[in-house]
Amino acid sequence: MIHDVIVVGAGFAGLSAALALADDGLDVLVLEARGRVGGRVEARADSLGERHDSGGQFLCEDMPEVMALAKHHGKTLVTTPIDGAFTLQPEMSEEDSRALWDANVAIRDRMNAIDPADPAVRDLSVWDWLQRQPDDVDAKSAFCSTVEGLWCQPIDAVPAWYLIDNDRRITNEVSELQYFLAETMLALAEDLAADLGDRVRLSVPVQEIRHDEDGVTLMTVEGPFRASRVVVAAPPVVANRIVFSPPLPATLATALGAWRSGSVIKMRLRYARAFWRDQGRNGMVLWRDIHGLFVCDTSTDDAHPALVVFIGGPLALRLRALGDAALRAEVLARIAAALGPQILEPLDVAMRDWVDDRWSGGGYSDIVADFSAYDAEALLRAGTAPIHFASSELSLSFPGYVEGAIISGRAAAETVLDAFKRPGGRDPRA
Ligand SMILES: Cc1cc2nc3c(=O)[nH]c(=O)nc-3n(C[C@H](O)[C@H](O)[C@H](O)COP(=O)(O)OP(=O)(O)OC[C@H]3O[C@@H](n4cnc5c(N)ncnc54)[C@H](O)[C@@H]3O)c2cc1C
Repeated sequence: MIHDVIVVGAGFAGLSAALALADDGLDVLVLEARGRVGGRVEARADSLGERHDSGGQFLCEDMPEVMALAKHHGKTLVTTPIDGAFTLQPEMSEEDSRALWDANVAIRDRMNAIDPADPAVRDLSVWDWLQRQPDDVDAKSAFCSTVEGLWCQPIDAVPAWYLIDNDRRITNEVSELQYFLAETMLALAEDLAADLGDRVRLSVPVQEIRHDEDGVTLMTVEGPFRASRVVVAAPPVVANRIVFSPPLPATLATALGAWRSGSVIKMRLRYARAFWRDQGRNGMVLWRDIHGLFVCDTSTDDAHPALVVFIGGPLALRLRALGDAALRAEVLARIAAALGPQILEPLDVAMRDWVDDRWSGGGYSDIVADFSAYDAEALLRAGTAPIHFASSELSLSFPGYVEGAIISGRAAAETVLDAFKRPGGRDPRA
């Protein structure tokens, strides 16, 4: 049997691509390596039997596609609890912490005002650029923490042009932590997969993509699958592990090899009471002296108090090298210093280390780490018929987010649909 299109990967990008193609009447098959859908969106049950997001979780009003999907599928938005004071460690006066925050935002705005094509930043890492700025040490340290926490990379590994180009596309004005879904974000991915029915095949990793004038043949443990076209909807680092036969054109192969995975560990701490609220705190903790550590309240209601902890970038690599028990002890001790000793008595601690994740990379996203690969994203977005690429990283809006994955998947589907609609469009090379 020859399908019109095979989509590799059932994350939000792959599911969105497949739904758009199927809606237009194409015969689509999704092959997913894992035994579940969702990719970097994942949910796990804790020891109390409660399902929580161990991967992508938050969304906000400024992300129209994921908001619309959540509404369409009847999901329940929970407003992330933010009433009360956030906690800065080591502590400083409210006035000083506001000034520090403003200085951090000012550095980010100043950087994003630079044209990413400006030759003055083309060879600089974000760290190099930061060293040339007039700001004081504390403001630079806060900015460094923002970069390492959000992009999950050492700041000196991130090309300045890449960060500017990427950050400019993250356009939310309300907090990206505004909401999460009571049913979990994974439940939304499962809804999309349910709409595709038996067109999604789980536990079928694609090892090789053979391509010629007749289309593509995907080699898997379950044998070959054939189609006119393929959409590879996996992060670039993981997509690059697939063997392409014959090899991709040199420019595209270089573009696919230009990326590097991030490093994230996500923890969820469940408590009997939201005791941090007793002191007027909202549960959000930021550190001035540790880069890449962040805590926020994800209680779904008063009966389910919980905090989520993000450990990103070099800090994630350092802490995981200690082993699980020492990592947990160090993180809990730091949060206890901020929110009180009750932190040391959780009902449950769930930890998800994404660093070596075989199928999605280390999270949250891959970045272009080759300082000269200015056109890597554009080349991947263009693909080479009959091979097309999608993934959150490639999105023109909200790269690195679920919103971006949806947009990227639909954009790849549109390219494929345009090709099918052209006269002779069933020709895979058209
Ligand atoms: C810990 C963590 C927290 C995050 N928090 C948020 C958040 O709060 N809000 C937000 O918007 N975003 C968040 N993100 C980012 C968000 O989850 C991702 O941007 C988005 O889910 C990526 O979707 P995708 O479809 O592009 O890629 P993926 O979700 O990675 O999907 C790729 C799929 O391809 C499959 N695959 C890979 N290789 C093969 C192969 N050879 N054969 C078959 N299948 C294959 C994988 O198994 C996977 O299912 C977070 C990410 C992480 C890791």
